[in-house]
This record gives sequence, C-alpha cells and structure tokens, in this order.
Amino acid sequence: MNTIKNTPLALVTGASRGIGRAIAETLAGAGYDLVLTCSRTLPELSGLANSLEEKYGIHCTAQMADASDPVAMDRLFASLDHLDVLVNNAGISYIGLLTDMSVEEWQRVINTNLSSCFYTSRLAIPLMLLKHSGRIVNISSVWGNVGASMEVAYSASKGGVNSFTKALAKELAPSNIQVNAISCGVIDTAMNHCFSPEEMNALREEIPADRLGQPEEVAKLVLQLIQAPTYLTGQILTLDGGWQ
Ligand code: NAD
Repeated sequence: MNTIKNTPLALVTGASRGIGRAIAETLAGAGYDLVLTCSRTLPELSGLANSLEEKYGIHCTAQMADASDPVAMDRLFASLDHLDVLVNNAGISYIGLLTDMSVEEWQRVINTNLSSCFYTSRLAIPLMLLKHSGRIVNISSVWGNVGASMEVAYSASKGGVNSFTKALAKELAPSNIQVNAISCGVIDTAMNHCFSPEEMNALREEIPADRLGQPEEVAKLVLQLIQAPTYLTGQILTLDGGWQ
C-alpha cells in the first residue's frame, strides 16, 4: 500500500471500466497515487493498475472490494494511513417497472449507489481530518434531479447521493473537506449497452450537444473539481450536453 505520505492518494470505486477507469487514468496522469476497487473483474483492474504505474510512475493498487458491503469497506480502509481524494463512482442501474422489482433488487441498487457513499465516506473522513484537507466527489445522474420512469430505484438512489453530497459538504466545510457531485447525462459506457441502437439514437436526439458524453469528460471534471478551491463545495454539477 502507499507509504510515501507526501504523494497525494486517491481512492476510486468501480474503476475497472467506464467512467471509473477514465477517472483513474486522469488522476494517474495528474500524479496521484491510486487505490482502485471493483466488484468482479480483478484481473482487468490489476492490469490497469500495472499499466498506470508503468506509464505515470505512480503507485497504484487494485483491490476486489464490494462498495455495497460495509465490512469489505472496513477491510479496505484498514490498510490506508492517509487519503486525499475519494471518488464514489461504483454504481449499477436497474431498468423495469417498480412493481416488477423485488425487495432484494431494490436494496442492491440503493446499497450500491447510495449506501456505498456512506460506507466509504465515514472511513475516509478521519484520514482526511489528519491533514485538515480532503476532496470527495460523488458520481451522480441527472435522473437524481428529474427522475426517470422504469428507473425509480436508480433515480431515488442518485437523488439520495445529491442530498448526501449537499448535507455532508455542510458538515465538512469547517474541516476544509470539499464534497461535490457530478450529475451525468448519458455517458458512453457499458452501463447503456442494455439499450438498443434505436433507443440510443432516440436518446441522442434529445441531447442538444447531439452526442453522448465521454467517460474522459467526466474524469476531466473530477480533476478540475479536486483542483478547485475547497470553498467550491456542496455543488451538484450537471454534465449532460445541455439535456436537462
Ligand atoms: P459501468 O457499468 O461501465 O461501470 C461501473 C463500475 O462500477 C464497474 O467497474 C463495476 O465493477 C463497478 N461496480 C458495480 N457495482 C459495484 C460494487 N458493488 N462494488 C464495487 N464496484 C462496483 O458504468 P459507468 O457508466 O462507468 O458508471 C459509473 C458511475 O456513473 C455509476 O455510479 C453510474 O450510476 C454513473 N452514471 C453513469 C451514466 C451513464 O450514462 N453511463 C449516467 C449517469 C451516471
């Protein structure tokens, strides 16, 4: 694990692919040491960690750690002695009518997308307090602001992430710990592979920018946020090509 205390350390959940992977690449390029987690695909994540170490000369560790499991998060954070940046990115979607959703499926979406932010933040904050400084970025969704039919649990979870962000920012501002969220529109990742090409075209036509967002654009905004003054806190920044 990271032992050089002067090197800034960032933890990114759900970094094996999509937006989390792009965030890891961008933070590595900016000189951050990294702890990367994912829920299933450790070989892929380890490969990413190795390539980032080689390319950027940083220290990067990959760990299989389910963000929706508080015990797994306890174990993960027990190995850390400092932390500068936490990016709560791990997330899942569920498409279907609410009446078709089981209690287990509801809990899985809420635990993965919302409770995970609690499980990680409560452990990250004491480490950040050691330096009287820290940055937390939560990856949210426009559905958290406006809601989407067939995605009630997902919308509720991301609405919760937005409120969590605003409330925690107020709690942590006196400690110089910044907390913000990025409310993404449609980003070109595997999360949207469940939609047909026709459905994706229909979605794209609704977006004034006339294209999907790229994971690298989310990553760039994460970096800009954590480089901004800590006075910029409690914000939900929408990144959606002018959609909502
Ligand atoms: P993705 O499915 O490509 O990647 C999700 C990542 O999260 C994967 O690495 C996966 O292993 C990880 N993950 C899932 N459950 C986990 C768990 N319990 N513990 C640890 N890791 C877990 O999706 P993405 O599009 O890259 O999504 C990343 C974040 O962005 C999510 O929070 C998602 O809700 C949000 N988001 C995505 C879009 C979009 O259009 N793609 C839009 C709005 C918000």
